[in-house]
Amino acid sequence: MPYKFTFDLTKVPRFFFTEVARISYRRGMHKTLLKRLQDIITKFRIQEATGLNLSDALVLLQDFIDLQAVNLLYRKDFLESNKRALFLPHCSRKYMDSRCKANFDASIPSYTCSHCSGDCLVNMTDCLARKKGYDVYVLPGGSCIPKILKTIHYEGIVGVACGEEMRVYGEILGGMNVAGQAVPLIKNGCANTIFSMDTLAKTI
Ligand code: SF4
Ligand code: SF4
Repeated sequence: MPYKFTFDLTKVPRFFFTEVARISYRRGMHKTLLKRLQDIITKFRIQEATGLNLSDALVLLQDFIDLQAVNLLYRKDFLESNKRALFLPHCSRKYMDSRCKANFDASIPSYTCSHCSGDCLVNMTDCLARKKGYDVYVLPGGSCIPKILKTIHYEGIVGVACGEEMRVYGEILGGMNVAGQAVPLIKNGCANTIFSMDTLAKTI
């Protein structure tokens, strides 16, 4: 379920994301939230940086804030979890065609990275997470998650996806006893997508 718009926040200052995290702590202030979001969009020139109209920029920013709030809610449980998995989106692979040498196991279903390209975001993340003891899945979509979680009981999960796909994650994990953490894409588009390695490293 992609957004109806594409975005690229890779050139937005890092402080923007700090501001998003700060607002997430104070999300209860609904009366002032919309005004606050509009101020941030203006302050960081989000519309100029992304080409989004105000309404789409607000949707995007609200999703970022909601994800941060959920992360905060489950952070303690996540840190106490032992068996963990990382779910990466297939759209962040360097190649989406036969140049990607990942093995696809339809029975899971998931790709497993074969490390064919040193500068592939999925490759770098896969290596980092496996060193930390994570099982890593590169998923064609969030709908693959229930099957995985029925097969293996994970206590903690880190999911990387766009905000729309993250809603699917949320609905799936809602009824399960799993502490989830979300890392949003900062560039969507369903191919050559980007997430922050820095954020990912801090999260896992
Ligand atoms: S490094 Fe892994 S995920 Fe990236 S293109 Fe190669 S096999 Fe695919
Ligand atoms: S996670 Fe990637 S492929 Fe899936 S909807 Fe979002 S941008 Fe598209």
